[in-house]
Amino acid sequence: MIGNAHIKETTMHLRFAWGEPGYLEGSRGLLGHGLMTFSRIRLEAAEQIIDAVMNIYLACILEGKTHKEMWNRMTELLEDALHLNLYVFLFLYAYAQFLATEMLYPKEAREYIESIRFHDGTVPEEAPPSSQNPIATAQWGKRIMLEGMNKRRDRLLKDLHFLCDEMTEYADLSPIQRLYLLTLTKRNDPLNEFAVTLEADMSFPNDATSDKIKAMFLEKGPEIIEAYTIDSIDALIRFELFSTLKTGLQIKKCRNCGDYFVPYGRSDAEYCDYRFGDDGKSCNEVGAVRYYKRKHADDPIYLEYYKAYKRYNNRVRYGRMTKEEFFAWSEEARQKRDDCSVGGLSFDEFKTWLGNP
Ligand SMILES: [Zn+2]
Repeated sequence: MIGNAHIKETTMHLRFAWGEPGYLEGSRGLLGHGLMTFSRIRLEAAEQIIDAVMNIYLACILEGKTHKEMWNRMTELLEDALHLNLYVFLFLYAYAQFLATEMLYPKEAREYIESIRFHDGTVPEEAPPSSQNPIATAQWGKRIMLEGMNKRRDRLLKDLHFLCDEMTEYADLSPIQRLYLLTLTKRNDPLNEFAVTLEADMSFPNDATSDKIKAMFLEKGPEIIEAYTIDSIDALIRFELFSTLKTGLQIKKCRNCGDYFVPYGRSDAEYCDYRFGDDGKSCNEVGAVRYYKRKHADDPIYLEYYKAYKRYNNRVRYGRMTKEEFFAWSEEARQKRDDCSVGGLSFDEFKTWLGNP
């Protein structure tokens, strides 16, 4: 059991079942954003946090720390993971719980690891190593976790392809109609049912009496909302996917990087605004340049300019020119290019100025 989720406009709120007020209580994010981030996440980024959790576990065992101390040390990293991505956090939370409980409560520890194991028959189910061997135990759990993340991300990408890509066979069906078809094929069972519960959109201390709750109601006036019980990571993936489409948001394939994204502003956006490439530019920025290039593909003045631009850009890359010098050069080059376009400068003069052969 992960918790309960509700949607308000285009935001998904998730309150964790284990949450205590003020501490890893829940998460809130633009609908579809966490899911799209998960679909494009690089596992190496997650692996760094996984290893950090593993190191805490091994250090605590070595120092004979208690289960509680170990857990306290892990929570800071879990908060980092929650900032990185909700789904990565959920995997990591289960892994950290597994490590922190495996010696004292082997049965519970087993349940945590089962919640992230990917069951599709393609992965042989290894038995856990003996608790006497912490390193083997930690690595066994890490393997299950990475496998679980990897396979779920692949399945999500496959589903997104089916739901959102142009396919002649399904051209007349909307993404949400395709999602229904997907549920019929039972590729993702049993994830299509979400129990509805009534929740207040605020949290109460675990031991709050009904008098206390009444007093807090009068003081804060919370809204009563329809929330959905989320049992597993798989159910959350399905829930977010369904809610994104049902809310009328679109899931698109970026024309630059080819990954999926949800446009929250203009619905005709073609490019995602994720950071991309070494220069930290987003596809949105890069995409506009590509468009310009395509538009000028037959323009000899532009092609000469672009040839020189690439050459100078390489100088910066290899440290033979500073960025400032490059910016100054490119500003002048653009000016000359535009002059040349209107006849103020001959084509040959322009080429000579650029230093092109
Ligand atoms: Zn992109």
